[in-house]
Amino acid sequence: MTFKELDLIEPILKALQQTGYTTPTPIQEQAIPVLLKGKDLLGCAQTGTGKTAAFAIPLIQRLYQSDHKKGIKALILTPTRELAIQIGENFDQYAKYTGVKHAVIFGGVPQKAQVDALKRGVQVLIATPGRLLDLQSQGCISLKGLEYFVLDEADRMLDMGFIHDIKKVLKLIPARRQTLFFSATMPSEIEKLADSMLTNPKKVEV
Ligand code: AMP
Repeated sequence: MTFKELDLIEPILKALQQTGYTTPTPIQEQAIPVLLKGKDLLGCAQTGTGKTAAFAIPLIQRLYQSDHKKGIKALILTPTRELAIQIGENFDQYAKYTGVKHAVIFGGVPQKAQVDALKRGVQVLIATPGRLLDLQSQGCISLKGLEYFVLDEADRMLDMGFIHDIKKVLKLIPARRQTLFFSATMPSEIEKLADSMLTNPKKVEV
């Protein structure tokens, strides 16, 4: 299987080639076609499997092919600052030739640079829950036009006590959206949360 066989567009293929990726990983092979079709996804995958590219690549492709209306279209919620930064670096690489813009926001640092990045206009927002809710309540972020919602490392989110924040975020985003839910483990609490957020998801396990 090649990336080209996954029906990826030229600007993304070129970026992947430059990044040095030759073949998709198993989760990418399984998830990319499902996500390009607009379906919800329940992914049971650890870090190191290539899961970031599995969701980032189809999101970038859908956004590139859409009408380029302004505003945040995709939200990626992740538990830690390190993960947020890493996901941002992945988007930098894959979206290089598409013009799809993103911002990364997380707590523990001054807000100004993040607010400035948001003001420049982005389609993708990569965020940790606390800072997202802070900036949203200050009026710096509107999620009303959101089309894609990614919950990354859901089990870690719950371990870190983010369940209430996740529920608050769910109230701020449209019910009609594509949802991607990733977790390394699937205890019953996580399954329940996934059930409440996903519509007819395709399950992918690696
Ligand atoms: P992740 O599971 O998203 O944290 O990715 C783990 C590592 O694999 C990252 O360093 C990626 O840059 C790398 N990676 C992701 N997809 C591929 C691929 N198709 N080929 C080679 N490396 C990849």
